[in-house]
Amino acid sequence: MAEFRVRSAKPIACSVTVPGDKSISHRSVMIASLADGVSRIDGFLASEDCLATMKAFRAMGVRIDVPDEASLHGPDQPGVVSITVHGSGGGLHAPAGPIDCGNSGTTMRLMSGLLAAQPFHTELFGDASLSRRPMKRVIAPLSLMGARISGQGEDGLPPLVIEGGALTPIHYRLPVASAQVKSAVLLAGLFCEGRTVVTEPVPTRDHTERMFEVFGIAVRREGDDILLEGGQRPVARDFTVPGDISSAAFWLVAAAAQPGSELQVMNVGLNPTRTGILKVLARMGAHVQEIVETTGRGEPAGRLIVRGGRLRATTIGGAEIPNVIDELPILAVAAALAEGTTVIRDARELRVKETDRIAAVAGNLRAMGVTVRERDDGMEIDGPARLHAPERPLPTFGDHRIAMAGAIAGLFAEGETVVAGVECVDTSYPGFGRELARFQAGDTVAGAGGSGRSGSGVQLRPDRPACGLVVAIDGPAASGKSTVARALARELGFVHVNSGAIYRAVTRAVVDAGIDPEQAPAVEAHLHRLRIECGHRDGEATIEVNGAVADHLDAAEVNAAVSPVARIPAVRAALYPLQRGYAALANIVMEGRDIGSAIFPETPYKYYIDATPEVRAQRRAAQGLADSVAQRDFQDRTREVAPLRQAEGALVIDTSDLGVGEVVSRIVEDLRARELVV
Ligand code: C5P
Repeated sequence: MAEFRVRSAKPIACSVTVPGDKSISHRSVMIASLADGVSRIDGFLASEDCLATMKAFRAMGVRIDVPDEASLHGPDQPGVVSITVHGSGGGLHAPAGPIDCGNSGTTMRLMSGLLAAQPFHTELFGDASLSRRPMKRVIAPLSLMGARISGQGEDGLPPLVIEGGALTPIHYRLPVASAQVKSAVLLAGLFCEGRTVVTEPVPTRDHTERMFEVFGIAVRREGDDILLEGGQRPVARDFTVPGDISSAAFWLVAAAAQPGSELQVMNVGLNPTRTGILKVLARMGAHVQEIVETTGRGEPAGRLIVRGGRLRATTIGGAEIPNVIDELPILAVAAALAEGTTVIRDARELRVKETDRIAAVAGNLRAMGVTVRERDDGMEIDGPARLHAPERPLPTFGDHRIAMAGAIAGLFAEGETVVAGVECVDTSYPGFGRELARFQAGDTVAGAGGSGRSGSGVQLRPDRPACGLVVAIDGPAASGKSTVARALARELGFVHVNSGAIYRAVTRAVVDAGIDPEQAPAVEAHLHRLRIECGHRDGEATIEVNGAVADHLDAAEVNAAVSPVARIPAVRAALYPLQRGYAALANIVMEGRDIGSAIFPETPYKYYIDATPEVRAQRRAAQGLADSVAQRDFQDRTREVAPLRQAEGALVIDTSDLGVGEVVSRIVEDLRARELVV
């Protein structure tokens, strides 16, 4: 049985990305499978739950291509993949046998709606945990539509037997706040003649409605009603799944409850029906900043920045429950660390999740020394508790969120917390264990928060913030900008970020995978398989790709391939938020080609470092590195997106005849004139 072993951690300062959203991934594959044409889904969560949905559609004749399928189940599985769905145009085929929904309630409930309207017989079954979850809530409305669908016993437990056929539309008022029930009815409604209406007294997550819109299906909201005209066929689209805020929730709490921590979560879904946890954490006194970067049709996404502090208790209940339902286990951990008694109520739904989450959370927190009073519909948690490792390994009851919440509690507990039976984590968050190890090692990356301290007589003006200041240094290859940027950063007490290393790390991965860097589509496809994580340690930026420190970045094959890779617009777009993200963590000196012109055009501190081509070629040769500087420069200057150029307002310094110290002095002089340093 796999386990996590966790010890208490010190504050962290880093950024994380989380795998694709589970709810959205399910829906993307379902609706793309029904569409006319071929859809490409990037950022698809390759977790056991979503793969169950994918396999179900394959079983019904839909062709779904996944690069490197064999890697999806191993210990190093990528977490997210790009998939290509060849839509059936509505013509699904009867599966050869019963469909295995694994542990996934979403697969079973949403598919029920869809299958009830197909002209064939299907059976849906699941694992032991799913076999205990009530399906009556979908059977009831679908039966009202004329579906012939049955489960076991009073609660309509799985397996489900569905005799598909023609349905009639209904107006259904949701008796439980459940996006799965709403979605099942809407999916069935898609195949009816006429208008289906679902009324939801309390708003639930609206991913199905948004996914409908993305794929060209008109759906309207009027007050509490959602209206859908039947007979519409989705049209194939390319779609990118953002990171899952429910996965991010674990790190948000780990950082929020740890004074001194600074965490940035990149590219995460910020759909307002899912961001309830941010409001709860803010009520608890956490410093959370939400930056929406992508809006419009589909799903809003962006960044989250959390600074740790002392938390206080709150009450969580009423209409906000559906919005935080998946986050309640980890919020209970936050509550244990907060001052006062936190009350969670109106959350009876937790009793019928992957396990009875009220009993599971209460039991596990008690085992770690927390006073918890169970309520029928929630719990009361006294804090701040002094957490200690449990005497026996914490059980997970096969529930991924219970496993992850237990691990995060361990980061705050005395002794070694063991969480046993953590295989279930793969149902929603492959790679969680790797990330946990980073948080565990928190002390090694802490304390590099870019203070106003300086090296030798250069002092930041006292009113300057501890993060957000950016000195941008651009210039051609081998102009000396790295040496200058590093020395300047040390002088200022800023973090040095070499953006070229990020492009090189991606290039390294592309080269290692045997991909031709000139083949933009292949590079782009590979890019989506890379988990790129940037942080900083001891004043230097760190970069990891798929959990391993990126190295051998100066090799000849990387030099030769990096400019073609950096020229690809999708590569630049993907790396843009990572680079911007550094400013939220620290004050930085960032060097590259487009820092002053495209990444941080707003910074007043811009420098362009140059040297004659001869001097630059000599410098590279003296380093013993094979690098065609002139060729790279040509490619960097002539590319379409963010070419190398002098940013407006940049101070140009020719370093051909200057030593590093002289260049740094000139920049410091300029920074003094601009009133950054005294
Ligand atoms: O700075 P360095 O020479 O390590 O950068 C390697 C390559 O990465 C550059 O030649 C350029 O193609 C790309 N790059 C970029 N934009 C940046 C930094 C580097 O395109 N901001």
